[in-house]
Amino acid sequence: MKNVELQEFRKALLGWFQEFQRDLPWRKHHDPYRIWISEIMLQQTRVAAVIPYYEKFLARFPDVQSLASAPQEEVLRLWSGLGYYSRARNLQKAAQQMAAKHAGQFPRQREELLALEGIGEYTASAILSIAFDDKHAALDGNVARVVARLEAIRGDLRESKRWRDLQCKADQLLERDSAGDWNQAMMELGATICLPRSPQCLLCPVANFCQARKLGIAENIPEKRKKRATVSIQLVSVVLLDAKNRSLLLPAPTTSSKNNADDHIPSLVAKLWHFPTVSALANCEDALERLLHHELRIKSAKSIRPELLDKIRHAVTYRTISIAAYLIGVKQLPKISGAQYLSLEKIQFLPISNLTRKIAKAALKRLSATKNTH
Ligand code: SF4
Repeated sequence: MKNVELQEFRKALLGWFQEFQRDLPWRKHHDPYRIWISEIMLQQTRVAAVIPYYEKFLARFPDVQSLASAPQEEVLRLWSGLGYYSRARNLQKAAQQMAAKHAGQFPRQREELLALEGIGEYTASAILSIAFDDKHAALDGNVARVVARLEAIRGDLRESKRWRDLQCKADQLLERDSAGDWNQAMMELGATICLPRSPQCLLCPVANFCQARKLGIAENIPEKRKKRATVSIQLVSVVLLDAKNRSLLLPAPTTSSKNNADDHIPSLVAKLWHFPTVSALANCEDALERLLHHELRIKSAKSIRPELLDKIRHAVTYRTISIAAYLIGVKQLPKISGAQYLSLEKIQFLPISNLTRKIAKAALKRLSATKNTH
């Protein structure tokens, strides 16, 4: 774009952003800590899903120090249901790094930010520009799509040379006098108007400056990436219930624990509190037998009658997980060091994944149906 055109383009986008931006809780502050939490939560997650988590998390951990010193279990519990739990672990590690190296303050230099766990180029640019108006153009998938369409850049946007070109273009477009608003305006355009599948060009405040629109190729940018083949995983889980209606949950294994030997159990099951689970390589009955006899060492396994719960399915990125979950009444729950013994209603107070939540829900549904028939 020529200089005059570039100025008009910036004015149009910023004017639109001032008038139509969504009212989001993290936009009320310029506190780098709060911006950081929102940016990490928003990775791979929709705004509507993030808002209640963001508010609860900030109420409990209002600053670097409170996050750094909290038990990891509590951090994970407040993250429970948001998915991609490595984000929560990295957040806490980064807070601890800030506590140790920066006296609990948010570092002001880009290099210092990039040295923290879980903070990459995009997140550093977003935090520094939104909190301090530093002159960095933040480029994530949404913004890259907008820039590619504005400039009619074809091809795979994640290809490294193309990504560098997009960063250069984003740097040229940046309104350096208000970099924070500018980055948020580009993100907002990508999230609400310049949508991946059907860009709303008729509503777009910068349609007159868009090359892809002029050429009629907006919907073909970015080019579709080849989809990774889906992997199907079959797991077997058991919900053991004793006479007091207590169930057994296992903790996230340490690297040396034997659960880790079963590396077919996806991380989303085993990295948080979970029901005893194994992968079923051949058939579910054999896997159940292995789980009861060998993993849990239930001696009287022959006398118990496992009830298969409703089918549970769970999809995470390229994996489709089917779980055969069994409800089993036992006289005594096996004694396992570090395990939790508690009622199904109470497991929500532990950090658990959505998958474990689904299993508990299926078990509770079965128990209430059984109660109603008696
Ligand atoms: Fe995106 Fe269409 Fe606006 Fe171009 S005109 S930036 S393709 S919404």
